[in-house]
Amino acid sequence: MRRAIATRKNRRSPGVRRPRMPVTSAAWARLSAEIRSCRNCPLGSTRTHAVVYRGGRAPRVVFVGEAPGAEEDRLGLPFVGRSGRELDRAIARLGLAEDEFGIVNVLKCRPPGNRFDRAAARTCRPYLDRQLSLLHPEVVVTLGAQALATIDPSAPPVLIAAGRPRPGPGVVRFPLLHPAAALRSKRWRERWEHDVGVLARWLAERPLVNTFNSGPAP
Ligand code: URA
Repeated sequence: MRRAIATRKNRRSPGVRRPRMPVTSAAWARLSAEIRSCRNCPLGSTRTHAVVYRGGRAPRVVFVGEAPGAEEDRLGLPFVGRSGRELDRAIARLGLAEDEFGIVNVLKCRPPGNRFDRAAARTCRPYLDRQLSLLHPEVVVTLGAQALATIDPSAPPVLIAAGRPRPGPGVVRFPLLHPAAALRSKRWRERWEHDVGVLARWLAERPLVNTFNSGPAP
């Protein structure tokens, strides 16, 4: 893992500016407040907390999950239950520093029975788009079938797409299975671990090209 971090740092070109910090911006604060008070769909009246974001101030990799579960609803943070622990282990393997990753969900409110709600996802979509446009990551890692279908509708099914980068306009999408899959069976754990390993190697080989690092100084 240490070697991976060193490789990326070595590839950082000299004189490159530090990235801006989108999560500390007024626009991000406004968007987060809007999400927290949202009542645009029925999930707004059954949730305890809307779940906005967990992560660094200028993430180069953003993980997109499906929807908050019980723990996330209770605490108001994404991926803080069992799947979250699995995801955190994967992130540690990727060698990403605290400020280099962020985590969001397609749905900001927990759907009753944890059943993904497609109608709510359509209503919620502008929030995800605005989050990604403010964060402006280099890589969006989709977690599971629903996140993949939302972010990258022309992608093949998740079992085919997972573990392979999908270059897109201004961002690379990298689909993974949902981390909950790793908790379900040995077979899915092996696939999850394999794909996370591919992502780790791919990130380690990738020069830092955060778009906030280029262009004229503000
Ligand atoms: N599963 C998700 O997709 N998101 C969370 O925040 C937690 C579990």
